[in-house]
Amino acid sequence: MIKSKLEQVGIFNDNLNKVKPSPIHSFDEKVSDIPNILKLTIGEPDFSVPQHIKDAALAAISADDSHYSVSAGKKTLRQAASDFLNDRYGLDYDPAEEIITTVGATEGLYTLLAAILNPDDKILIPTPAYPVYAEMTRINGGHPVFIDVSEDKFVLTPDHLREIIATEDHIKAIIITNPSNPTGVTYTAEQLKDLADVVRETNILIISDEIYSELSYDAPHVSMASILPEQTIVINGVSKSHAMTGYRIGILAGPAALMKKINMVHGFVIMTPSNPAMAAATEAFKSAESKDDTLWMKEQYKKRRDYLVEKMTKLGFEMATPSGAFYMFAKIPVDLNQNDVEFAYDLVDRQQLAVVPGSGFGPGGAGYVRISYAASLDMLETAMNRLESYCEEKRTV
Ligand code: PLP
Repeated sequence: MIKSKLEQVGIFNDNLNKVKPSPIHSFDEKVSDIPNILKLTIGEPDFSVPQHIKDAALAAISADDSHYSVSAGKKTLRQAASDFLNDRYGLDYDPAEEIITTVGATEGLYTLLAAILNPDDKILIPTPAYPVYAEMTRINGGHPVFIDVSEDKFVLTPDHLREIIATEDHIKAIIITNPSNPTGVTYTAEQLKDLADVVRETNILIISDEIYSELSYDAPHVSMASILPEQTIVINGVSKSHAMTGYRIGILAGPAALMKKINMVHGFVIMTPSNPAMAAATEAFKSAESKDDTLWMKEQYKKRRDYLVEKMTKLGFEMATPSGAFYMFAKIPVDLNQNDVEFAYDLVDRQQLAVVPGSGFGPGGAGYVRISYAASLDMLETAMNRLESYCEEKRTV
């Protein structure tokens, strides 16, 4: 191990003083080496990438598609992404000026925040939320302002938003996650319209993270950009919808003038996305076959959701029924008499079952656990048997 004095002499950006590692990954790492552990911790599809998508990547490699592209991504991919957003959600984006291809949704979010944040700026984050939002805001010198929405069935209400806007200054943007990680809750068109009515009166940007848009179970997904396109930037991609997390292709879509500046930053950060990954994502966005792949995956997730809702409810857990993504955010029954961190570690110790403590998702998350059902029904059955044994044991003590 190399020892360096530099950490002690303040080599790092001061913004990092408040940044914490992802609670999901920290917990996952701590429990990963436990023998016989069954993990429902990580949010990534358990399906293989469909063969025709793999073939598209392989064809790009064979054709020696090995040079720099352009920072916004290949035209063919931007066209496919634009058609996809139009076909699925009725959005109308010019592929040349209003869409950027990013290295996963993650880099899109980072670059966007880097492009808009000044030192006093605040980002509104309805919580429980994906922890990355707050940390990326801090890395870029901004301040996250958490809005606890746990008392409102995990959706942000217009009244709550109005109240925050009236009390906070320097609000740059709000991040809406629809469908939500960690709760699986989705917004209806009505709810989005009501929020848009509040935001329209302001200069606030809506960052609409719709990475789970294709996984909406009970109603068609409604994009915030179909309601307030002039103040919205949509984040989407192929990671969740096409089981392509490792390919690292996402998209940002928004008004041309904003996208131009964001693309400038994006070019400095990544130069260009990877060509084989772009070829695969183009296939994912545009082929009819790929629409069927996603529908099939959605059906599997839905079966798993239904199974989990029934089992968890029987065991005394309460939850907002997840209507999208592949997470359930369940309230730990009072008679188990534990906070979420104690519960999660005790469950690992006694039954080798790992679920993520809810407090890591910000205000409103304490007392809950997040369960990822991106796992086979067999695994979920084993998990529920273990949870049942755990609950029986605790309840008979
Ligand atoms: N946004 C949300 C809400 C997520 O849950 C995730 C991954 O878990 C991401 C973005 C990251 O997506 P990507 O893998 O495309 O970077």
